[in-house]
Amino acid sequence: MDLKNYIASIPGFPKEGIIFRDVTPILQNADVMRSVIDAFDAFVKEQNADFILAPEARGFLFGTTVAMECGIGFAPVRKPGKLPRKSISETYQLEYGTDELCIHADAIQPGQKVVVIDDLLATGGTVEAIIKLVHKMGGEVVGCAFVIELDDLNGKERFGDIPVCSLTHFA
Ligand code: 5GP
Repeated sequence: MDLKNYIASIPGFPKEGIIFRDVTPILQNADVMRSVIDAFDAFVKEQNADFILAPEARGFLFGTTVAMECGIGFAPVRKPGKLPRKSISETYQLEYGTDELCIHADAIQPGQKVVVIDDLLATGGTVEAIIKLVHKMGGEVVGCAFVIELDDLNGKERFGDIPVCSLTHFA
């Protein structure tokens, strides 16, 4: 089974010049979803992680399932104004301007080993901000896992020595 057959490529979405890689066909096929979850599950166990974080919204699709499979906890990372309880935040740089990510202040306990899961790694800015949030809370990111890595953007260079698991690669 070639995972790429279950990733739709949409030129011009959400704006001209971008090819959007859509992972929803994976979710439409239970066997393909199972193979993705199994691969993430193995990676999480290899890293001895005891917690999963994922950014909204597509990270949730995989992160919660993997956490359940591994028998460990999960917390969502969200854009400002979405989380109802006391949160901490991290601002990060976009191509034009800045963005911000937030996490509940009690989501991670000091010393916890976290794997971050998302659908796609592009510049790495999103996950770099999550790594900073985890450090602020006294935890450690022991791995980052993606369905898709866009190789030309070298996003993983921002993660230093943290192991990265990418199930497919595009230029
Ligand atoms: P980065 O912060 O690494 O530059 O961007 C990664 C974030 O942008 C991820 O949360 C991902 O969901 C989203 N993203 C950017 N481009 C795409 C794309 O082509 N397809 C999908 N599915 N997500 C994308």
